[in-house]
Amino acid sequence: MKTLIVICKFSIIFLLLMVLGVSAGSEAIGKSDDYAAARKNMVLVQIRHRGIKDQAVLNAMGTVFRHEFVSDAYRKKAYEDRPLPIGCGQTISQPYIVALMTQLLNVDKGSRVLEIGTGSGYQAAVLARIVKEVYTIEIVKPLHDRSNKVLKRLGYQNIHTLNADGYFGWKAHAPFDAVIVTCASDFIPPPLIEQLSKGGVMCIPVGPPFKVQHLVLVKKGKTGNITTQVITSVRFVPLTRNLSSKEE
Ligand code: SAH
Repeated sequence: MKTLIVICKFSIIFLLLMVLGVSAGSEAIGKSDDYAAARKNMVLVQIRHRGIKDQAVLNAMGTVFRHEFVSDAYRKKAYEDRPLPIGCGQTISQPYIVALMTQLLNVDKGSRVLEIGTGSGYQAAVLARIVKEVYTIEIVKPLHDRSNKVLKRLGYQNIHTLNADGYFGWKAHAPFDAVIVTCASDFIPPPLIEQLSKGGVMCIPVGPPFKVQHLVLVKKGKTGNITTQVITSVRFVPLTRNLSSKEE
């Protein structure tokens, strides 16, 4: 009888959590969402109409509060079709590029993903709604601190952050099913290729700083063979190096 009561209690709590929609990232709970219409419009016009079909990506982009990841001065512009400044000379990517890169990773709820360039934390939040675990590295300490705060406030529990030079990846948690690099590098950092699992994919902007770069999709085959494919032209802030840093 006692066991039955305990089971019932747990079932009620579980059902309550389900109804409230408690999950990784709980933006939609008990918060006013003044930007619902703007976000819906962003997904339709900027993302769906441009050919992004992955339903998990569309759902995630339609759910994450992008306006929470920019400063107050940019809130009203958060859903516009462009990147925005996030301080320290860095930017949050244009919504379409976030959606495109996320779709290219071809990940699902069992995946573990490494991101280089946490920035505002927005891309990590979008991924966290699709995959199992997100590991994200930011080299600039104030950005690392701020994104940590935002992600914590919004309730994300499957995002793990690190303040370090992402060039080296995050060996302790490797291999990763997917790697996403949100800053441009002249070449693909070898440690990131190494930390990709067999059958995994990496999406990375390759090219010179502050010029047009190529968004490259890197695939590691079942035998460890590497293939690359240029997807489109992009313009990202550069991957910078902390030359005194070492591998994690
Ligand atoms: N994904 C971010 C966009 C970040 S912009 C978002 O959703 O907001 C690129 C970020 O990469 C910047 O914050 C920059 O500081 C960071 N970065 C540059 N070089 C890096 C490196 N070597 N390791 C980790 N982060 C780096």
